[in-house]
Amino acid sequence: PALAVALGLGAIFGILLARSRRMEGPVADLDRALAAGEFKPYYQPIFDLRTGQIKGCEILVRWLRRDGSVVPPMNFIPLAESSGRIQAMTWQILGSALAELKPLLRANKNFKMSLNVVPGHLLSAGFVETLRRKVLTARVSARQIVVEITERDELDDLARAAAVVAELRDHGFRVAIDDVGVGHSGLSRLKGLGADMIKIDKFFVDTITVDASTTTIVEMLVALARDLHMGVVAEGIETEEQLRALLASGVAEGQGYLVAPPLPFARFSELVESRRAA
Ligand code: C2E
Ligand code: CA
Ligand code: CA
Ligand code: CA
Repeated sequence: PALAVALGLGAIFGILLARSRRMEGPVADLDRALAAGEFKPYYQPIFDLRTGQIKGCEILVRWLRRDGSVVPPMNFIPLAESSGRIQAMTWQILGSALAELKPLLRANKNFKMSLNVVPGHLLSAGFVETLRRKVLTARVSARQIVVEITERDELDDLARAAAVVAELRDHGFRVAIDDVGVGHSGLSRLKGLGADMIKIDKFFVDTITVDASTTTIVEMLVALARDLHMGVVAEGIETEEQLRALLASGVAEGQGYLVAPPLPFARFSELVESRRAA
């Protein structure tokens, strides 16, 4: 009996210890960072490939830790998603981005700001209403906000996803399908979602100058987008050569290190200002 009690106590102690470790683990780290406001929007310009004019930006989150390190999204988005913290994080960076970009958005009604939203969040109850309230409160036009969604398994219920897309568009928001060409984006689903634009993944931009079949794929996506009245944005443009190849394939807008990486607000607004002066 003494042994049984000892084993029982040991087990309980073990569970408690494991629980306290978990509390101090990576999820608790996310909670602390959320409470401390350590998730910051960085901004990558989206530009007209022909004129170089900056047409808008994509918000890309960075975790600025107290020790001064900058954590890239791939190191914490999956955990934020699986632990249910992604929603709070998304609203937090949208709030910061609206506050920072408000003057620019109000001064230039053609300027658009893209926000990445995971499918689970998009399909959650109240998503459209909350987005609408935040954008309205900031007195920014819904037409200047693009919701970027990556097509994944969660969007298997195409009818439901398409209904949310339609609701967003009814309120004036624009919708982009992210990472088109890689992953799950079947052509019929691309059509069925009813979005405003598609984003061509960096994978194709990387290979367009070296692989003729990539040119064919990009031209096909451009033709499809045109048929469906959708715009096309290419991501990950690093060289003039890639830019020229994309232009030749009919792509009008893009983003990439060729113009700028994702930048913190101060540097992004400097860039926009200098371009405007030029
Ligand atoms: P994404 O949405 O496809 O974003 C484009 C990624 O390509 C960004 O990586 C961007 O920094 C990178 N990129 C852009 N141009 C170039 C280039 O010329 N060269 C190279 N090498 N990379 C380029 P990042 O910022 O590390 O984000 C990675 C992914 O994390 C994003 O892919 C997106 O899926 C996710 N993510 C980032 N921010 C958020 C966010 O706020 N919310 C959500 N849900 N996901 C986010
Ligand atoms: Ca994106
Ligand atoms: Ca993308
Ligand atoms: Ca991508």
